[in-house]
Amino acid sequence: MITHFIKVFGCQMNYSDAERISAYLEELGIKESEADLPAEAIAKAGLIIFVACGVRQSAEDRVYGQINNIHKKYPKKTIVLTGCLAHRKDVQRRLKGKVDLFLPIKDIYRISDLKFKIKNSQKHNCNYLKIKPEYKSSYTSYVPIMTGCNNFCAYCVVPYARGREYSRLVKDILKEARDLIKRGYKEIFLLGQNVNSYQSELKIKNSKLKIKNSDTSINFSTLLKLIGTIPGNFWVTFLTSHPKDMSDELIEMITNSQKICEYISLPAQSGDNAILKKMNRHYTVTHYKKLLRKIRSAYKKYKPQTALAISTDIIVGFPGETRMQFENTAKLLRTMKFDMAYISQYSPRPETAAWKLKDNVSKREKVRREKVLTEILKKTAFQNNKKYVGKIVEVLVDKIPKLSFRKSESLALGRYKHLGHTHTQKKVIFLSNKKNLVGKFIKVKITKAQEFGLEGVII
Ligand code: SAH
Ligand code: SF4
Repeated sequence: MITHFIKVFGCQMNYSDAERISAYLEELGIKESEADLPAEAIAKAGLIIFVACGVRQSAEDRVYGQINNIHKKYPKKTIVLTGCLAHRKDVQRRLKGKVDLFLPIKDIYRISDLKFKIKNSQKHNCNYLKIKPEYKSSYTSYVPIMTGCNNFCAYCVVPYARGREYSRLVKDILKEARDLIKRGYKEIFLLGQNVNSYQSELKIKNSKLKIKNSDTSINFSTLLKLIGTIPGNFWVTFLTSHPKDMSDELIEMITNSQKICEYISLPAQSGDNAILKKMNRHYTVTHYKKLLRKIRSAYKKYKPQTALAISTDIIVGFPGETRMQFENTAKLLRTMKFDMAYISQYSPRPETAAWKLKDNVSKREKVRREKVLTEILKKTAFQNNKKYVGKIVEVLVDKIPKLSFRKSESLALGRYKHLGHTHTQKKVIFLSNKKNLVGKFIKVKITKAQEFGLEGVII
């Protein structure tokens, strides 16, 4: 019987998509190829699926490299490319003869068009988000609430790759979340390119939950409120918010909920108004700063005991970005003191509006700008992390790194090094003499801060 291997490149959405693809293949009788090492699993699999990101050229190049290698080594294997690259004609031309099927993610059901003898192949044209996923983790989960995007930021391929915004039905999301909590999951990441514009098509009537306007469609704040009513001890985090769409209603909602996490991803992209305009972001630096201050003061007021972490995304070297304009971004990072920033060098993407602009900031200068921002980030993140020292925090345990078993110091102490994270997505390293803590909430006293993490002891 043929087996499959899925290789993912990219963001959480790609990982989440892979969980659905895997479940669909299982349903078709194509099981996962299992082996200790990925290379062995690839060798055994008949079907290799690439779920690939096309947001930056570097990611795209890695996908070409891997597909070329696998095709060269195993020319008979069936290769499918899906994700944000699959729809592009130039990509299809480049990989002709190596890839058997190019599938936009929403058409994943068409995988049954392949030559395998597949039962159930009548499922064409279904909504792929309806597939019940095969979750990779047993305690933390991705739940997509929407896909696609209508914003058309000048640099971004997502609206072309994933199409227009589409929100899942509120009842489907709630069912998925309830099932996860029932099965003991401790963490849910709600995913969408712009979760703030979530709008369920379904008009739900639910008098018990006392939702205002219960006969109108459900927006993101109400969806969060509904998820917050599910009984159980779990964390909810959402990614990503567009600064132009983060409403006061949403801020009020998250600051009043015990379950919605204290980690907010708010991509600024630039700290310069002219660049933001060219990027088609529809907000100014002043709006962004005011919004962040509003969020921070709301947390201080309503959740004074809890830490809040803010992360952002920044692009350096957008076409025409001058040194002065870049300095404005550096200033934004200094003043807003982010906990995390995903900094990317601008990469021209076919089809996008910025594709027509001259990519005129040199590679060297992009590298320099990225380094400058990384240094600022290290300082602000470290400052923020120092506030945790001496405090007791709840940690969700992720793993016992293999390396630590070899470390004589921890073995001598009869203790194992564990890795986990806080509700603010800070990585925590701590020692414990128990080995079976993975997937559990535990209390850790923080003893030391690092730039991108914390150290502590279990209490
Ligand atoms: N929906 C999210 C981000 C989606 S893409 C948002 O609105 O912010 C993830 C990140 O990749 C973006 O935030 C951006 O910083 C980066 N990115 C997207 N296109 C890019 C490009 N062409 N070059 C460099 N970075 C890019
Ligand atoms: Fe891309 Fe902008 Fe949509 Fe984010 S909001 S996915 S950056 S177009």
